[in-house]
Amino acid sequence: MSKTAIITGSGRGIGAAIAKRLAAEGYDIVINEVSQEALDTYGAQTVDDCRAAGVRAECYAADVSDHAQCEAMVKWAKDTFGTIDVLVNNAGITRDGLLLRMSEENYDDVIRINQKSVFNMTKLVGAVMLRQKSGRIVNLASVAGLYGNPGQMNYSASKGAIIAMTKTAAKELGSRGITVNAVAPGFIQTPMTDKLTDEQKAAMLAQIAMKRYGQPEEIASVVAFLCSDDASYVTGQTIEISGGLSM
Ligand code: NAD
Repeated sequence: MSKTAIITGSGRGIGAAIAKRLAAEGYDIVINEVSQEALDTYGAQTVDDCRAAGVRAECYAADVSDHAQCEAMVKWAKDTFGTIDVLVNNAGITRDGLLLRMSEENYDDVIRINQKSVFNMTKLVGAVMLRQKSGRIVNLASVAGLYGNPGQMNYSASKGAIIAMTKTAAKELGSRGITVNAVAPGFIQTPMTDKLTDEQKAAMLAQIAMKRYGQPEEIASVVAFLCSDDASYVTGQTIEISGGLSM
């Protein structure tokens, strides 16, 4: 029986690159997006790209910060595909602003969408994987969660929490053959970073040893490794993928 991967927020950006990479490796794919509109606007193309690899790919609209919507999606995925072998918690947003100007709403939205979504999906898919006695979970953290970043109190908090949640889930699920790891990207060229000012982009570039931005495919390849048999004894780890941003 073929294996199935759910990648949250995978209509575009890093999530889409991960979906396409896992499709190329033979996984059936669930593309998730926050709304049907997002799926229609850009998710449909990602579904087509995955199907072009010869695997089954379906999309599902669910806001992963909402537990009930996650529950419905995970039930649908299990009923539709039979197993859930890989979960990539990729969905995320930024609402940047300096601490003294950051609204409570922008703080809460980022924590809810970036962090609570990982609780929702790991709990629900973790239950399926426990019964299967196998599974791979990979969480998208960030260098902001490792080192902090001015203007990102909310985002850094959410990504730091994801690193701690990765270790906790790894400890709880490890004895049942489930690995849980995180990747911490630096500056990757996606719609999320396109909206930064030229000044902000130049400041980031100056700190990167390799003097270039990363590409979504360079995150996808490490995620694919963590999902592979080659990573069978790796769990609870956070791998920085930043071109040498901080050393
Ligand atoms: P992106 O904005 O291009 O893609 C994120 C996707 O998540 C979007 O398609 C969006 O619609 C979806 N999404 C947002 N809220 C959602 C929700 N509630 N439910 C379901 N889907 C939702 O961003 P990206 O750059 O591809 O980022 C992907 C992940 O990588 C994020 O977790 C981000 O924090 C992380 N990351 C990105 C960078 C970078 O430089 N781009 C760096 C470090 C970490």
